[in-house]
Parts: sequence; structure tokens; C-alpha cells
Amino acid sequence: MIRLVAGNWKMNGSLVANRVLLDQLEASPGVEVAVCVPYPYLAQLQQRPGGLALGAQDVSEYAAGAYTGEVSASMLAEFGCRYVIVGHSERRALFGEQDVTVGRKARAALAAGVVPIVCVGETLAERDAGRVMAVIGRQLAAVLEVLGVAAMASVVLAYEPVWAIGSGSSASAEQVAEVHGGIRAWLVAHGVEAESVRILYGGSVKPGNAREIFAVADVDGGLIGGASLVAVDFMAICGAA
Ligand code: 13P
Repeated sequence: MIRLVAGNWKMNGSLVANRVLLDQLEASPGVEVAVCVPYPYLAQLQQRPGGLALGAQDVSEYAAGAYTGEVSASMLAEFGCRYVIVGHSERRALFGEQDVTVGRKARAALAAGVVPIVCVGETLAERDAGRVMAVIGRQLAAVLEVLGVAAMASVVLAYEPVWAIGSGSSASAEQVAEVHGGIRAWLVAHGVEAESVRILYGGSVKPGNAREIFAVADVDGGLIGGASLVAVDFMAICGAA
């Protein structure tokens, strides 16, 4: 399956800075490259380098109606979004997003033809307590419960250990291998067509560690935060995939 490297700009950017960044991005042969940008910039990103896919960072679980401040999946589709990140740990931790809400957001995205990039991952305390797959299994089960087995095969998953995000040091290749293998096995055990699900790794991926991470079994791409804001770094990471 073709690998996906998605940049998550988080709440960064400006019209001017985005243009400078975009002017330096280009398609990367053999790998799908996407940028997930703040909502207001979806309009600006209608003009972007060929081959660069567009995504958002969140979506409403609702289709339409009196939900002030929300953005629907069909709106994202109108602006050409192929992807939307759901359940990022920052949304879970800072905005109280619950497992079941993540599942509903994934369902809303799929209903509008937008592929959800569902983020899962443990905190350091959970890792230290030996609960890595227990936590990830709980997060995945909530999504599976809402989507059902068939639709679950249409999502992209991203393993993002909370403790590695923005820390400067990624999980080790051994840790990544163990969790990605665990996620694939979990999908198989729950009857999901696991081979068609791309599992991205996210958390301090940089040009210096990208090649090692992408070489790990069951890693099908990356979700890149800080390094996706630096064109030369992002292109180097895409080139390593
Ligand atoms: P960093 O690459 O900045 O660690 O962020 C990872 C992330 O949260 C991507 O969604």
C-alpha cells in the first residue's frame, strides 16, 4: 500500500507564512503527501502544489444544524479535503474529547467521503503502568463500535505516543514496532481487514530519525507536527518514507 506522510500544522501559520511554505513543497515520488491545516486556510490551500493532498485537523460529529462553532465533514469535502485528523491527543487532553466522540467524528467524516486519520496513543503514566495496548485497545474499540467492522478498514490510524509529541525524541524503533504490530493484531482479532489499514507513526519525527522509523514493520507513514512547518525538513521526511 502507498505510504502516507501527513503534516499536522496544528494552530500555526499565517497567510504569508503558508504561501512561503507551500512554494517550497513539492510532490514526493511514491509517497502520498498531505497537509492538515487550520480551517480558515482551507481556502488558501485550494492553490497548492500538484499531488499535495489536503486535510483538516478536526470535524464535527454532526452533519448540520445548530452547533455554533462546529465545522461539518461535508464542508471539508467541499474544500477538497481528502483527510481529517480525529482524536488527536491534544483534543482529547485539552478539549475533553471522549473515545466515543472520536468514533462519531470518524463516522461523520466517512459519510462525507473524507478519510479520518484516527489518532491513538498512551500517556507516559499509562506506559509506565504497562497499559499501552489496554489504552489503545479501548480507544480503537470505541471507534470500531461506532463504525462497524467494514468501515473500520477505511480509516487511517496514527499511533502517537503522547509523551513523544513535541518532545524532540520519538519512540524507539522497538517501541514503534511493538505497538504497530499490536494495533495490526488487534484489528485482525476484531475481524477488520487489517492489511488495508495504514498505520502512521507520529511524535517527534524529524529528518534524522524518519528513515529508521519508516523502516519498522507495520509503519505505513507518518503524522508530522513541528517538522511539517519547515519545508526542507518535511520534504526530507517525505523522501525517507
Ligand atoms: P511533533 O511531530 O511536533 O512531535 O507532533 C506530532 C503530532 O502531534 C502530529 O499530529
